[in-house]
Amino acid sequence: MATVDLSDAEVVDAHTHPYRLDDLLAKPSEGFDTRMMFLGESFTSSSQMHEELWPVADALTDSTLFGIVLRRWLAAHLGCDPTREAVTASRDAALRQDPVAYSKGLLDAAGVVAILSDEGYPQPPIPADEFASSLGVTVHRVARLEPWILQHRDGSFDGLLTGVVEAATEAAGDPNCVAYKSIVAYRTGLDVGDPSSVDAQAAFDRWRGDGWRETREHAKPVRDFLIRRALEVAKAHDRPFHFHCGGGDPDINLPYAGPTAMFPFLVSVQDQPIVLVHSGYPWIRDSAYIASVLPHVYLELSELIPWAWGQVEWALEMLVGTVPSAKLLYGSDEAGEPEAFWASALLARAALQRVLQGFVDRDYVAVDDAEQLGRLVLADACRRLHGIGGS
Ligand SMILES: [Zn+2]
Repeated sequence: MATVDLSDAEVVDAHTHPYRLDDLLAKPSEGFDTRMMFLGESFTSSSQMHEELWPVADALTDSTLFGIVLRRWLAAHLGCDPTREAVTASRDAALRQDPVAYSKGLLDAAGVVAILSDEGYPQPPIPADEFASSLGVTVHRVARLEPWILQHRDGSFDGLLTGVVEAATEAAGDPNCVAYKSIVAYRTGLDVGDPSSVDAQAAFDRWRGDGWRETREHAKPVRDFLIRRALEVAKAHDRPFHFHCGGGDPDINLPYAGPTAMFPFLVSVQDQPIVLVHSGYPWIRDSAYIASVLPHVYLELSELIPWAWGQVEWALEMLVGTVPSAKLLYGSDEAGEPEAFWASALLARAALQRVLQGFVDRDYVAVDDAEQLGRLVLADACRRLHGIGGS
């Protein structure tokens, strides 16, 4: 039987968050695994979590599939016993001996050659070139809309509009800035309308009067208006626009965070490339439908990978079986722990290989076709969309 082999396929990670080496080293290695779980990550990124619940989350890592795999695989990578204590101690020693070499070793072991770095989290932004020097691989910048709104909204509505458009245009002048991103799913929702400037200006005055609360009555028309203007800049400068789509940490505006809420907006901007970051997870079937009917809608696979670890194979079978693979972008959503790049990429490569082997075994595709689809998902779809080298 012909065998699908993706072992030498390069990986480009389409969604990550930068960190500073000092910040990485300032954190204790104790709990690094819990910080990588969906449960633990929320304690860092969300303002809604009750800090006293950390020990509850930490105690659950031992019975979390991803937590167990991480401990076992990292023990093999580090050459230590597969106990939580031994892995934590070995990781700490390797990291502190040479943090850049440790991270680069993980990326190399997983075949990750380049990443896209979302500058919106953490704040203030960490430059892509600084993150690149912390990792030893190419880092491309994804510019975030929402901090620009925060930066420019204290003056007039015209000042806000000018400030945002200028910031977006300036980002386009950076050749390493390969995309924009919005997290309006965390603010007023993905059902982005198309308000007039008169309506947006009136809403701006009400929003200010309301103390900048994130309401759909006052904040939403302003945010929606600015998203439309930022999309115009992205289109003029030939950059894709990424939207967080799907669940997230508990700060998310969940009723308006899914692909279904976003669909009319996506139809209205169908002439330019839009990436649904997280593929709308957990509503990935809805996203698969949307990406199979709108030519310029792309799906990025993080959150599903690695946090829904046990769902990844059926999800990849469904996604690769439904959506053109030239529109499926591997991503890890790494956010502060270098092992996340590695574990996610290892999972994606192995799961894709098994899923694609299934398509070969059923005589849907030849081995060459399967391997081409796998390479698209792992790297080439992201490269083509963002105009970055390597394929
Ligand atoms: Zn993210």
